[in-house]
Amino acid sequence: MPHRTLAEQVRGGFPGAVRATDLVDRLADRCTELGFLASSSLLIVGVCRDELCFPFVARLEDTWGPAFHVGSLGGLVTIGRTGISAAFGHAPEDPGAPRRYLVVAGPHMGMDETGEFGTLRREHQAADSRACGALMAFRDELLGGHVDLGYDPNDPEMSLLRQRLVSSLAYGTIPDPVQLTRHVAQLIDEDLAELIRWRASARRDTHEVRVAVVTGVLVHTSGGDWFEPHRSRFWSSRSGDFDLDLGDPGPD
Ligand SMILES: [Zn+2]
Repeated sequence: MPHRTLAEQVRGGFPGAVRATDLVDRLADRCTELGFLASSSLLIVGVCRDELCFPFVARLEDTWGPAFHVGSLGGLVTIGRTGISAAFGHAPEDPGAPRRYLVVAGPHMGMDETGEFGTLRREHQAADSRACGALMAFRDELLGGHVDLGYDPNDPEMSLLRQRLVSSLAYGTIPDPVQLTRHVAQLIDEDLAELIRWRASARRDTHEVRVAVVTGVLVHTSGGDWFEPHRSRFWSSRSGDFDLDLGDPGPD
């Protein structure tokens, strides 16, 4: 096989991926244009619990300050109405001004040196391991023909992950690892949209609420993290929503 650049390898599975640092910069530029400042916005992050996700979160926090975390295993948003209400109660207050929230969420996936998705070598480990381990474990259960849909109090987040994913897949479907991860990005986007809609309708705020939401897949490589946006939009409780338009991926 002819040599492929890192960008070509990543975009072999995630055609819209950009370097994660580029995504963070583009997002900051776009949000600044829309009046979001670190001093007047709350960052809300929904990623898997894997430590691989947190350099990306740290870059976001470098710009926006400490984040409220809404993610669980696999990056799924299982925090529910109580959790999102807590998050939406924590934005900086400025009398007469909108409350602003920047939400970044999605699943993650490793890519090894050969461009294979779902596995990677972690620093200080001798063998490759899987990422996302929870999503790949769920896929193993599909392949094995047995998924326990009960709620296991000893494994609560994995129980919720199974229930959410099984209910969203066509019967008998076993997506490949990339398809599964992109599918989870869509579920996370839907679940966040539902929570935000509920929060907006559950209370009549005296202030306007403005939310910038970016969902997508975080891809880890030995040459750094990449991010493929699934959907990015701006939403206001007073004036509706529109696409954030973060631009097309460049040649790199
Ligand atoms: Zn994970």
